[in-house]
Amino acid sequence: MDLRFACRAAGVVLLALLAGCAPRVVAPPSPPPESAIRLKPPSGLQCLERLAAVGAAFEIVAERASSNGCQLTNGVSLTRSSVALDKPATLACPLAVALSDFETQVVQPAAQRHFRRKLARINHFGAYDCRNIRGTRRLSEHARGLALDIAGFELEGNIRISIKEHWKNAGPRSRFLEEVAKGACSIFSVVLTPRSDSEHHDHFHLDIGPRPHCGA
Ligand SMILES: [Zn+2]
Repeated sequence: MDLRFACRAAGVVLLALLAGCAPRVVAPPSPPPESAIRLKPPSGLQCLERLAAVGAAFEIVAERASSNGCQLTNGVSLTRSSVALDKPATLACPLAVALSDFETQVVQPAAQRHFRRKLARINHFGAYDCRNIRGTRRLSEHARGLALDIAGFELEGNIRISIKEHWKNAGPRSRFLEEVAKGACSIFSVVLTPRSDSEHHDHFHLDIGPRPHCGA
């Protein structure tokens, strides 16, 4: 049965929508200590509120779990973070918030610096995917909805920047991608680029898993 909630959340109506569409979310019996709040990434309602506050468009998706360890909790189907995505991405809410931070703190400034244009769209290859890291028997962070593969960026003025086409070229697109990849390491715990290995010749792998690695 498809348990996806047909509940588009946006702006100030988020709480009302959640009340109607996600009755399983309950408040904890007592608030955690303040130090725990500071150390934890946003989760649950707090995360969804942050996502709505940046103008994201998303649907809450039902939890997923499989016997081989794949799991998606606090998942959303995201069609827009702070900018549009070329297609919906299913991912955990904290990764969607990290994507929004990446766009506003890293990609938009780089777009202004190199092209004097605004970021208009993110093109991606997908996020949640119940699979191992290729060539290994270890689950990928994609299997927990904590990883997103970005193929390229579109700026206003129909400026297309593709990792596959432009990473190796000389010129402003290549310099833009280089800067964006380095900046991604300040937002995500893992950044893999064409510099990392041949598997990533055409995309940036960005994840918020527990094993930090900057491949920019
Ligand atoms: Zn990936």
